Amino acid sequence: MRIQPRNAVFLVGFVAYLVIRYVYARRTRGNERVVSRIGPDRILIALVSVGSLLLPVLYLFTPWLAFADYRLPVPIPWFGAFVMCFGLWLFWRSHADLGANWSVTLEVRKGHQLVTHGVYRLIRHPMYASIWLIGVAQGFLLQNWLAGWSALVTFALTYVLRTPREEQMMVEVFGQEYRDYMRQTGRILPRLHSGDG
Ligand code: SAH
Repeated sequence: MRIQPRNAVFLVGFVAYLVIRYVYARRTRGNERVVSRIGPDRILIALVSVGSLLLPVLYLFTPWLAFADYRLPVPIPWFGAFVMCFGLWLFWRSHADLGANWSVTLEVRKGHQLVTHGVYRLIRHPMYASIWLIGVAQGFLLQNWLAGWSALVTFALTYVLRTPREEQMMVEVFGQEYRDYMRQTGRILPRLHSGDG
């Protein structure tokens, strides 16, 4: 097992990620669905799990991925730890702000409300932004070409395929309200200028 502090930071961060997910998944479990767009989501979620869980576990607990190891300069893992903390904070806040409206796959629940407050005030996809950040942190913490960057690569594919479908679904359900929200916010970075101009 690799016991360097950078690997321990990754493990603790990843456990915190799973705990946050578990707590909020339990809270939303019984909510009735009125729209469900599964599409390729299940395959994508499986891919992201390989990138963010399976390969890191193989790297940390077996010697099998050692052929892809490399070394980064000392400050980079520290920076990775900082990015991990910020990513986890954003992941937690987006779950807290989305509340009962959260779902793993693309769904609209009974009584679904458009959330535009908290971390949703400036960007439409703070949870995806947090997963990008945690993926970058993984790359800076796990010094291995496969285990380090696999979450980022698999999530990039998920983000590109899922976000337009999610926004399309939100426009169909919330109409002008979501279009107005889109005009005022960016996807994962705040807009510099809001409105039509
Ligand atoms: N893309 C968002 C939410 C991810 S969870 C983010 O990155 O933060 C996915 C579910 O959230 C979707 O099924 C959709 O129904 C719901 N959702 C997305 N944006 C929302 C919003 N602003 N208000 C309410 N629900 C939203």
